[in-house]
Amino acid sequence: MHYTLLTPLNKVIKIAKKHYEELQKQNIVTVQDLLLYFPREYEDRSQFTDFSHIRADQKNVLRGEFISVYKETTRNNFHLIKAQFREETSKKILECVWFNTKGIDKTLPLHQKVMISAKAKLQYGKISLQTPNVQIYEGETSEGLYPLYSKLSFITEKWFFRKIHEELFPKIQNGTINIPNIVPTHFLKKFHLLSRKEAILTLHYPKNKNSLQKAQDTLAFEELFVLQLVSLYKKQTLQHAGQKNNTGIHPIPLNPEMIKDFFATLPFTPTNAQKIAVFEILKDYEKNISMQRLLEGDVGSGKTLVAVCAMLPILLEGYQVALIAPTEILAKQLFVGISTFLKQAEEQSFFTKYPIKKSNIFNNPSTAFLSGSIKGKKREQIRKDLRTNQIQILVGTHAILEENIVFHNLGLAIVDEQHRFGVLQREKLLQKGSPHFLQMSATPIPRSLAIIAFGDMDLSVLNELPPGRQTIETKVITESERRTVEQFIDDQIEKGRQAFVICPLVETSASEGFEDLRSVEEEYIRLSEHIFPHRKIAILHGKMKPKEKDQIMNDFKNKKYDILVSTSVVEVGVDVPNATIMVIEGAERFGLSQLHQFRGRVGRGSQKSYCFLLHTKNYKNERLSAMETTTNGFELAELDMKLRGIGEIFGIQQSGIPDLKMANLMNGKKILEAKEAAEEFIASKEPLDSHLPLKDAVENRKKNVRSQ
Ligand code: ADP
Ligand code: MG
Repeated sequence: MHYTLLTPLNKVIKIAKKHYEELQKQNIVTVQDLLLYFPREYEDRSQFTDFSHIRADQKNVLRGEFISVYKETTRNNFHLIKAQFREETSKKILECVWFNTKGIDKTLPLHQKVMISAKAKLQYGKISLQTPNVQIYEGETSEGLYPLYSKLSFITEKWFFRKIHEELFPKIQNGTINIPNIVPTHFLKKFHLLSRKEAILTLHYPKNKNSLQKAQDTLAFEELFVLQLVSLYKKQTLQHAGQKNNTGIHPIPLNPEMIKDFFATLPFTPTNAQKIAVFEILKDYEKNISMQRLLEGDVGSGKTLVAVCAMLPILLEGYQVALIAPTEILAKQLFVGISTFLKQAEEQSFFTKYPIKKSNIFNNPSTAFLSGSIKGKKREQIRKDLRTNQIQILVGTHAILEENIVFHNLGLAIVDEQHRFGVLQREKLLQKGSPHFLQMSATPIPRSLAIIAFGDMDLSVLNELPPGRQTIETKVITESERRTVEQFIDDQIEKGRQAFVICPLVETSASEGFEDLRSVEEEYIRLSEHIFPHRKIAILHGKMKPKEKDQIMNDFKNKKYDILVSTSVVEVGVDVPNATIMVIEGAERFGLSQLHQFRGRVGRGSQKSYCFLLHTKNYKNERLSAMETTTNGFELAELDMKLRGIGEIFGIQQSGIPDLKMANLMNGKKILEAKEAAEEFIASKEPLDSHLPLKDAVENRKKNVRSQ
């Protein structure tokens, strides 16, 4: 009899109906599902502690026997079970305590050699061992790291141990259950990894920490490799979608003269990072596939210019370009930015030297703006002009994606602030032709994470700001300095400047851990009634309707208010050049990269700008001081990742990091290796059909990704 990993469990091991039903509910159905139910932790039981070496607040493994067990009820009616344990070497008696563990008093083995592992607490000069794990043992020391499984509903740790070790393992060892490799063997060799079978067996009972690490590395690599393959296949599909329905754009040879001439029309010199990104994009156009690229760059790094350069070759070939931003204000801002660059070029006869092919009337590209608020005749005109190729560049909001907006020949779609933009929209864009696609994002995330989150795109990074940018003076402020800061803000307002005040909450909350945090509503009242009664103050938060928010942002931009008190909704890139002050309350509540995003709201004009970080009383550590010394968004994101894990990196939640079980996203080197291997595999053109286990894994991952 032979089984595969996908054989239902109940065909392979003895299993009660009740258990099988429960496991099914928990998605453990096949042999593989149970094999991938790995221990939650391991204990090194070869190392025993004797009485004199017990360490408080740590786990200790002891040998000995229980000599009595009894129940106790505390004064506040807590039920405890206590037992007396005699440690083997010292013969000293220790107390063990279980909290709310019913029935342990009935099953605890008395007067038998046992091994226990427990955290030791020192209370009133007495050692007590808390909720020990108990195992009877006969032999001498046990070898290796003893696996501890998690309980699942009523299914005990012990059940998992027995089924995996006593029923599945023998069948794996004698070959009844076959575990083929998913990762092609030559990659396992290249990166010094184990076979899948060895890795799985090891994870259930590692010999030592080294082999545990190796097994974890193996499965982590497998996970990342499969994930990268899925991304790369998806990228290929997107890249070739155009060729398939024959609407794709033909390759455009790179014309360095043209781009140089365009640079010459600018009032500044592009940064190296900008030049490299432009080059990468123009190289994409030379290929016979459609571009799928992400442009990442901090606020102010000059993404708009890169976008314009990306548009040029497409425009000159006579194709149309769409530019989409998440809100009307942002779209307008982009529209103005782009029109300015094009106008400068026009005025210096750039489009006379490089005329647009197939253009029926104008030499210069004509632009239009479209959003939900553009209706009626105006909208009809735009629709008509788009279809007849009278408009070359359409800038706007999601309104562009609507079905009745039809392009004559869309060649490139650019999306700003990508984290608001989903895969679905991307597909809608594809349906409007099969354009080259460029996403722009002001969320600097470490490269390794970008590979995971945006693996279906190529990556260009603007890692430098144009020279001469003012740095925003940033200071962590203590409560005693608050008055001084408020005075300073008032002086700035007197000089005609404006200020943002960010609070972590919308309404005041009495919930635990939130009492000290300021809310937008409370702060608005405090500032407008007590601190700045003579100033005009507005309030902005996520519970308001998008229209209301846009209105307030617009009014603030037009200087109708001096101070804007807001929650984190102010993050997205609205440009208010006159705002020079950013105050952030409860700053420790935010990740560094998010604080950096807030800070990016000021310093956009010519005036010197300031960022003040206030924190609650309980805040102690030094994390915030990184804001005073670092202005690089990528560095701050790396720091976030080190200090508080990847969840803290601003924008990461929205970008959809897939669910990974084994891989550690902090390990950039491993991620790069997996990507490299996946690219090598694809380049080798080996058909997936000759690697069936890999094919299955890829299909499974695809389903997973889609359902997210
Ligand atoms: P982003 O969209 O990346 O936040 P923008 O494209 O809005 O940044 O650029 C910010 C400002 O910097 C704009 O006023 C732009 O004209 C200007 N700028 C862009 N590139 C350069 C450069 N190389 N040198 C000087 N100023 C630049
Ligand atoms: Mg921008």
